[in-house]
Amino acid sequence: MMTIMPGAMLGLLGGGQLGRMFTMAAQCMGYRVTVLDASKDSPAGCVADRFICADYTDREALHELGSTCAGVTTEFENIPSDSLSLLADYCVVSPDADSVAIAQNRIAEKNFLAGNGFPVAAFTVIQDSDSLSLETSPELFPGILKISRFGYDGKGQARVNHAADLKAAFASLNKEVCVLEQRLPLKKEISVIVARGFDNAFSIFPAVENQHAHGILDVSIVPADVPQEIIQRANEVAVRVAEKLDYRGVLCVEFFLLADGQLVINEIAPRPHNSGHYSIDACVTSQFEQQVRTLCGLPLGSTERYCAAVMVNLLGDLWQSADPDWRQLLRHPFAKLHLYGKREARSGRKMGHFTVLDKTAEAALERALEIKQLLNINTSS
Ligand code: ADP
Ligand code: MG
Repeated sequence: MMTIMPGAMLGLLGGGQLGRMFTMAAQCMGYRVTVLDASKDSPAGCVADRFICADYTDREALHELGSTCAGVTTEFENIPSDSLSLLADYCVVSPDADSVAIAQNRIAEKNFLAGNGFPVAAFTVIQDSDSLSLETSPELFPGILKISRFGYDGKGQARVNHAADLKAAFASLNKEVCVLEQRLPLKKEISVIVARGFDNAFSIFPAVENQHAHGILDVSIVPADVPQEIIQRANEVAVRVAEKLDYRGVLCVEFFLLADGQLVINEIAPRPHNSGHYSIDACVTSQFEQQVRTLCGLPLGSTERYCAAVMVNLLGDLWQSADPDWRQLLRHPFAKLHLYGKREARSGRKMGHFTVLDKTAEAALERALEIKQLLNINTSS
């Protein structure tokens, strides 16, 4: 396997915050990065060494990226998989087109997971209004209807309590192809991020406990407050998912933990994940550095955790009249601020995050919630 050494140019499809943090990690190690994105003013584009402003399907732009980069990766699961296949004729590409094609489509994802014996919530595919029969499996209610493609941060989802509400819910999602899944009584949500290199080496990041608000990740806590036996099981499942996909790169598996101890896979992401941001400040190797290492064929870094950590997302809602008063955060020497350089603060938009480090998750959580509260108060006053 060829190793891509520091100094080389790496390519990145997508200009969002995950790409920005990848770019910074790559640059730290001496790589250069070319970002391809359709938006002129993207979080990753503005820190990249080179920026190509183009659509992900622009063949000329893909040719330019592929022929000037030693390896290409992505930070966004909705990259057309054909574009990844095309790039693979030029250079190393990770993750591969097939894995991304599965992860970007809830139907393909659920069929892949269920077909390989992984536990998922009971589901059915709703193709069109004709498949909206009232006899739709009653065990799926109360359920959640999710568009099969392009949903994120809880967008493109509708709760459906009874079969009779299905039609209206489908209409509210513009009659796009959907998956209807059973709504499960969640005890907790956890996620496991794994990395797999071209040499088949694996590394697993410490499991994270995630709390959502309005369908958007709000707080991530490490170590997760769940029995070691459950974490062990989640780790094994995440590794098996990566193996079944023949995956190379960084992969996140989101789990639901049910009251009876059952672990159900919610979804997978073929990239670093919001719930793994704590690794930047709390682990020997961050999920973004690990992405660089897998792409470049370097040995994987240790995912050992130095301490407990709590990450809190900073959404656009915080910026009502002015910037939040960062002094409330920065006065804590173990609170780390990360902002993504987005100019426009829209409601629900991920503008940044902060991570609080401490000896225990309880102490980190207490401090993080205190900071969160103070940042909030400041904007409403
Ligand atoms: P997204 O792509 O927006 O992250 P998810 O499918 O992960 O969409 O759903 C977002 C959140 O909604 C989940 O993290 C979970 O809190 C809740 N959720 C989704 N599906 C279910 C379900 N079947 N049962 C209970 N809660 C769910
Ligand atoms: Mg999710």
